[in-house]
Amino acid sequence: MKTSIATVSVSGILPDKIKAIAEAGFDGLELFEQDFLVSGETPEAVRRMIADHGLALTLFQPFRDFETLPEPHRQAAFDRAERKFDLMQALGAEMVLVCSSVSPHALGGIDRAAVDFRELGERAARRGLRVGYEALCWGRHVNDHRDAWEIVRRADHPAIGLVLDSFHSLAKGIDPETIRSIPGERIFIVQLADAPLIHMDLLHWSRHLRNMPGEGDLPVRDFVRSVCATGYDGYLSLEIFNDQFRGGSARAVAKDGHRSLLHLMDQVSRDLPRATVPASPLPDRSVVHGVEFVEFAADEARAGQLGGNLHALGFRKAGRHRSKSVDLYRQGQINVVVNTEQQGLARSAFLAHGAAAYAIGLQVDNAEATLARAVALGAEPFEQEPNPGEIRMPAIRGIGGSVIYFVDRSPKLVGLWEHEFIGCDDPARSGDAGLERIDHVAQTMFVDELLTSLLFYTSLFDVRKLPMVDVVDPAGLVRSQVIENEGGGLRLTLNGAENRRTLAGHFVNELFGAGIQHIAFSTRDIRRTAAALAANGFEPLRVSSNYYPDLAARFGLDEEMVARLEQAAILYDRDAQGEFFQLYGRAGSDGFFFEIVERRGYAGYGAPNAPFRIAAQKRSLPPVTIPRL
Ligand code: MG
Ligand code: MG
Repeated sequence: MKTSIATVSVSGILPDKIKAIAEAGFDGLELFEQDFLVSGETPEAVRRMIADHGLALTLFQPFRDFETLPEPHRQAAFDRAERKFDLMQALGAEMVLVCSSVSPHALGGIDRAAVDFRELGERAARRGLRVGYEALCWGRHVNDHRDAWEIVRRADHPAIGLVLDSFHSLAKGIDPETIRSIPGERIFIVQLADAPLIHMDLLHWSRHLRNMPGEGDLPVRDFVRSVCATGYDGYLSLEIFNDQFRGGSARAVAKDGHRSLLHLMDQVSRDLPRATVPASPLPDRSVVHGVEFVEFAADEARAGQLGGNLHALGFRKAGRHRSKSVDLYRQGQINVVVNTEQQGLARSAFLAHGAAAYAIGLQVDNAEATLARAVALGAEPFEQEPNPGEIRMPAIRGIGGSVIYFVDRSPKLVGLWEHEFIGCDDPARSGDAGLERIDHVAQTMFVDELLTSLLFYTSLFDVRKLPMVDVVDPAGLVRSQVIENEGGGLRLTLNGAENRRTLAGHFVNELFGAGIQHIAFSTRDIRRTAAALAANGFEPLRVSSNYYPDLAARFGLDEEMVARLEQAAILYDRDAQGEFFQLYGRAGSDGFFFEIVERRGYAGYGAPNAPFRIAAQKRSLPPVTIPRL
């Protein structure tokens, strides 16, 4: 099916919207009338602009409060329609959307509505135009696609068809299976939007909080599956009213929209019997088995500090790159790479963001297929000229200009570390602390980048999202979204900062953009790890002394256990699955830190402990210096 998007979905003035929509790869656009009215462009200029960008004008919308009016309102509505038809012909628009009436004058009545539409169909057909009727979920008399369809059926005119909008049907909880009995050729266009599940006024919910399919909680995939069952093969068109998108980057929102549609069509094609649809052109979403490595960019001074921290955490320097200024630190199955090259991406990442974890390597079954899917979904491939003898690893640009490498067990990537690094004997010889794997990686970004990241990861990898939670920072809320897979090979926490005064906001500010703010390592015995870390001179983060008595009260823990936890600065949580132990390092001046976790069946991330951790980390940060002007 072809892709389209309503101009109201993206920010800017009409020429910017059209450009962003074309560049994102859409086949067509719906022209939202207001965007045309305020543009100051002539209809002919807009028509040319759309055509010059290679786009189809799929729909002109909306035309309101048309049906079941008494005279003289009825005649006035037809006069209005004729004037809109004139405009549509000048714009080159072939179809108009009529949404169900909210007028207090509307009388209602399915046959009365059918008569009105039959006459409108006659008038439209004379000009070679078509009319699609959409049930707004807050429509006065018609607010259900089944009633809209009955009106279209009774109007019985080839120029009159149905417009389906996933929001209007799904927000009201109407079963999308009810679409299956509608003949596909009577559906003129299908509009799609998702939304977070919130109990609120439908109109307000629709006008402000719609989002891209996959970003919200509505069963849009089921909806499209039902649409496909009708034989409909027209446009899938995004109609997204969202306050954040209206104020965001037109380019980024259009790109997200196109990615969401490709991902959705891919999912639906996998749901349907093979005979009815061509096989999906996209490779499967990749299962991530684990984080193979994390790579930091630094200069010599910061690399020295980082090396000191890693030693205290029980890492040993295990190798030096054969041809580059890159060190490998190892513990358990964890690989941490510290890159101090004077050129290439690591250097530019360091110059742009300071010392930071700018790349991760993910273990997948097929690195080339993962890359192919990512690129097909609009991700930017990353290639850097390899040094002689260096292995080329498939990679893409991630959030905030970072890099994600894909590592598989193909012959060229087996023995990667031994091939590229010369083993070395680490003179620091700190004690191994029993850290085994990377448990999770936390990425911090501004809150308006959260949905983009969510869509990026969920469309690429075989992962699920958990419900978004609010984490309380003394200076504001941080929106936190977990993405994880079944086996725990990929666990990401995405944190969206609302302002710059939270620890998350401070980090994004210091880094000049989104990035990895903390990395959590797993241990099987946190008490042993804590003792080893203490022997290495690691300074754990100590939270408020009020935390431990409260912990004892909340979970009914015995005094001795609580004393042991407090002594070792270990935080505790429990859920239905099991117990969780956490140990934090202090945050660096930029807000970056390490975490150590022990999971005993526990499935979460210690969200109840986050406010304690954040408050303590903020207390231990160097005081903010305000530059004199
Ligand atoms: Mg709509
Ligand atoms: Mg964490």
